[in-house]
Amino acid sequence: MPSRRTLLAAAAALAGTTMSGCDDNGGTITASARKAPSTPPGRPWILVVPHPDDETLGSGVLMAQHVAAGRDVHILLLTRGMGSNARAQINGTQHSKWWGVAHNPVAEGYAPLTPEAFGAARFAELTAAVGCLGGATVHEAGLTDAGVTVAQAKAAISKLVTEVGRDAGVYAPSWVADDNPDHRAAGQALRELAAEEPRVYGDVRWYVLPPYWTDDRLKQVSWAWVEPTNTDISNRARNACRAYGAWQPPHSYAIGYHSVDYMFAKVDGGPKSMVHT
Ligand SMILES: [Zn+2]
Repeated sequence: MPSRRTLLAAAAALAGTTMSGCDDNGGTITASARKAPSTPPGRPWILVVPHPDDETLGSGVLMAQHVAAGRDVHILLLTRGMGSNARAQINGTQHSKWWGVAHNPVAEGYAPLTPEAFGAARFAELTAAVGCLGGATVHEAGLTDAGVTVAQAKAAISKLVTEVGRDAGVYAPSWVADDNPDHRAAGQALRELAAEEPRVYGDVRWYVLPPYWTDDRLKQVSWAWVEPTNTDISNRARNACRAYGAWQPPHSYAIGYHSVDYMFAKVDGGPKSMVHT
């Protein structure tokens, strides 16, 4: 039986003004003015995110607390999630359960989304959500949605660790309690790296997406809740959800909510994250 314990944030104090910048080309974005000039950057922390929205659903509280503690936070986005069937919903060729009626792009005044436009819109949702969580540097691995391999994920993680510092903490989706192949590949990649190079990967954890919070497979590992340490943290975690529910075509398409509204409802109803070792 896993112990139910709450992880306390390393430090609760917010570290200066938080802002984030965005590159319209979808390349690496760099957060600016995140810390007071006199504050040295904290130890790097890397969150491995297979698709836009995994960070908010699985790690919103976790990430907001790392930013608040002054850590040098990096998002490693493996894919833009271009294969999601939310694209068919928004283009009106598939019914949207969350929206309740079929979309009609002509009547609603927008052009159907190509896979590329859909990917760019998903990236924009992630950028907005990351800003809500306090800001981070976003790196893209450019891998294929539904086709992430363990080898590709290992290469992407190891490249970023080399760039940001070997003392980085690295968190990835659970390799044990998750059925999505991309999530499992990312989790397994971190597991193998930690086994192969324990000195480099001395601070690793795996985060659990909401549908798996009561999964029996968690009995195989030691897991813990990460509860918000204050209302700023829980507000930030909720605000990040809003970034995925914004409907204002052609600027934003609420792709996250079209895709997994029930997961956002769970986070919005009581922000917390679950991690395991
Ligand atoms: Zn995902």
